[in-house]
Order: sequence, then C-alpha cells, then structure tokens
Amino acid sequence: MVTTSVARNKLQLLRSEKLAKLAWLVHAFSTRHGGTSRRYGGSALNLGFTQHDSRAAVERNRELFLKELGVANGRRNWPLVSLRQIHSDLIHRVDRMPEQLLAGDGLVTDTPGLVLAVQTADCLPIILADHKRRAVGVFHAGWRGTVKRIVEKGVGEMRKHFGSDPRNLVAAIGPGVQGCCYDVGEEVRTKFEMQFAYAGSLFREVKESDPVREKYPLLFLTARAPGHSELPVKLFLDLVEANRRQLLDAGVLAKNIDTAAPCTACHTELLFSFRAEKGETGRLMGAAGIRLE
Ligand SMILES: [Zn+2]
Repeated sequence: MVTTSVARNKLQLLRSEKLAKLAWLVHAFSTRHGGTSRRYGGSALNLGFTQHDSRAAVERNRELFLKELGVANGRRNWPLVSLRQIHSDLIHRVDRMPEQLLAGDGLVTDTPGLVLAVQTADCLPIILADHKRRAVGVFHAGWRGTVKRIVEKGVGEMRKHFGSDPRNLVAAIGPGVQGCCYDVGEEVRTKFEMQFAYAGSLFREVKESDPVREKYPLLFLTARAPGHSELPVKLFLDLVEANRRQLLDAGVLAKNIDTAAPCTACHTELLFSFRAEKGETGRLMGAAGIRLE
C-alpha cells in the first residue's frame, strides 16, 4: 500500500501495489483529507451519507474522489455504483448503473466504465481482480459479513459469472480496524468458532491491567471469592487474517493477497475510524473499475 505523509488539505488515495500492476484496472482506497465536508475535522473527504454531514458536501466529495481516481469519460465521471450495506453476504452482479440503490455487501462486474464501491469506517473494504478475465469485485466485510463468508462467496460469484480461476485473482484488503485495536465480545468468538475450524487463531486474549489492583493486591485477594481472582480478559479479533484465510480457502494464492493497508483506529490522522472516533466520523471508500478500451 503506497502511503505518503499526511497533507490535510490534499486529497490522497491509497493504492495496492499488487493491484497497481494491472494496467486495465482502476482502483483506490480513499483517505479522510482533501474534501469539502465541514464535519469530521474539516476539509474532510466524507464519502458516505451520514447523519452529521450535508448531502451536497458528500456528493461534491464523491465527484472529487472520482476525478482523482482518473475515471472521467470526456467531461463526465463514470457512474459510481455503491450499496445500501446491511452486513450480509449478498453480492450483486452489475453491468450498468442500477435504477435503485441495491441492498447488499458485494458488487462484481466485467463491464468497463463503471466504478464499484463499498463504504467503510473500520470494516474492511476488499477488492478482487481477475487479471485473465478482466473482471472485478468489491466487498464490505465487518465481523458479521466475515462470519457469513462474504469474500469466500465473492470468489465463488466471480467463478460463476466470469469463469474466474482463483489462481488468477489478485486481492487487496484495504484499511480497516486491525488486530491491534479490534476488541470484541465473547459472543463474536463463539460465532466464529461455530463457522471456522481455525477460529482460535484469529483471536488474542489480553489481560486488562488495573492500576488500583496493582497497587493494593491484598485488598483484592481477600475481597474476591476463590477462583475469581483473575483479571478480566480483553479479546482482540484479527479481521484481516480472517479474510485472508477465506481467500486462501477459496483458492487465491498467498502471493496475490495484499494485506499492507494501515489500521484505521491507529491512524485517525489519515483515515476515518468509527470506533476510535466514537461513532462520529465519515466514511471511506474502496473502489475499483475496468478501463474503457
Ligand atoms: Zn490499530
């Protein structure tokens, strides 16, 4: 993933080095700066219709994003196909701009001149490209979509619609909340354990430190019942690894999977993070399309 230093008023896009090698493909992951939104720190490139931001600002930001992406056809940008995202495993094949906003969490196409996009602010945006068949897919994977195997199914949809051989697929997992920052409840681990034999390797337990207990350990030794003296455990989920495993299981080669994107929660100076910014934040986009001949 190509990142440079953060310039607050400049629109910056992140690109996967692996996907950038495909000359027929247009792709990018957006960052937070260089837009027209007054919310979220100002000059923000918020690309989602959130409750805090104005519709006009988001529309203007989307225009700026497409211009930077380099998808102007004459003076007009290519149509931007996005979704009403519902944390599902629903994937749509599109060959033109849909008349209504589709509900789902994945889009695939082999039609040039369309930009497919998913919106995120901690969930993972994932792009798949078939370098033989010239087809692309974009997917939105939070923990719910990941449990439903959205990206594994995405590979299946590309096989079905375009005859894609998974060995010809190149994947980029974009910026999202990573294992360093993504603490989840025990119920999330339970859901993964019900689905994946390797679930155990996706979670990391960290004992919460408590300065009061560290200072007065005897107080807590006597006050607590036997067997209950352990400190509470925080649970961290590695969502990037979970999706990388699904891509591998679907036949994508390890060398063709780019996981170099930064963590949103660690890098709020560059990216939007729903968790790190307590829900009041903008939306990033992961977008891809096929160049016109
Ligand atoms: Zn982090």
